[in-house]
Amino acid sequence: MSARRIDGKAAAAAIREAVAGHVSAFAQRLGRPPGLATVLVGEDPASAVYVRMKNRATAEAGMAGFAHNLPAATSEADLLQLVTDLNADERVDGILVQLPLPAQIDATRVIETIEPGKDIDGFHPMNAGRLATGLPSLVPCTPFGCLHLLKAELGTLAGLDAVVIGRSNIVGKPMAQLLIGESATVTVAHSKTRDLPAVVRRADILVAAVGRAEMVRGDWIKPGATVIDVGINRLPTADGKGRLVGDVAYDEAAEVAAAITPVPGGVGPMTIAMLMRNTLVAAHRRAGLTDPEGL
Ligand code: NAP
Repeated sequence: MSARRIDGKAAAAAIREAVAGHVSAFAQRLGRPPGLATVLVGEDPASAVYVRMKNRATAEAGMAGFAHNLPAATSEADLLQLVTDLNADERVDGILVQLPLPAQIDATRVIETIEPGKDIDGFHPMNAGRLATGLPSLVPCTPFGCLHLLKAELGTLAGLDAVVIGRSNIVGKPMAQLLIGESATVTVAHSKTRDLPAVVRRADILVAAVGRAEMVRGDWIKPGATVIDVGINRLPTADGKGRLVGDVAYDEAAEVAAAITPVPGGVGPMTIAMLMRNTLVAAHRRAGLTDPEGL
């Protein structure tokens, strides 16, 4: 058997097109487009690439972009002041502070300073708590993108056994909350989990968010499972450019699974699409409008 390759790029393009349609309707109604402010501190190459992609997607959606690139030596006080200013800026509906931040800045304090209604990453404790209690919130983009792919693939998730590997606040924990919300039976595994292969073998749905290249082997996968690979790992190659792989050994897993996301081209594009979606939703809620339909 060879698994269906879940095309995150195509799914993300469809979401971004739908967002762009809503953006022009919003702009006509409110006299301004939704606005997204990105904040990059320092020159971490991967972070710079991610922020550039987010800024480009913002422009392509017809939204207003406010890009702030700060030097690596920026003080915590200066960054908190910028966030406070963006909270007060009426043109800004979403604020994204790219993580990780330099060592002199406490990321938790920065996240807690972002106005929850503008927290389009969904990392503020207010949004995390609302997600956990089943209230409307802004949901972290990567797990939200994973959920979208799973529902498109499987329809209902009710009663399915889901295993999430990873318990970060950014991916693993919100992913588990979303799956519970869909009535899956959820196990969260992490570095202290005993006999991880046996745990994974129970999974109808596997979400791997670990950061260890090809850790999940083909013989861990339950036949017919749906596999969502969040991991982004760079393996060295002879030409020095490196090769991106996920947390799952794709070729092995594809022999056993029913469907699987590739890396790249799976979860990654969905993260950016959901960021655009969250900014649009934040703009609607801030303007007192109901959430845009179909997103
Ligand atoms: P993280 O904060 O480093 O969390 C990794 C999790 O994996 C932790 O909970 C850790 O357990 C667990 N873990 C580590 N080694 C393990 C092992 N041997 N067995 C089982 N569990 C293990 O990472 P993250 O931010 O969640 O990101 C995870 C991966 O997703 C990374 O590769 C990252 O680059 C990628 N990512 C991709 C996107 C995207 O858009 N596609 C977005 C975000 C992240 P403990 O809690 O016990 O330490």
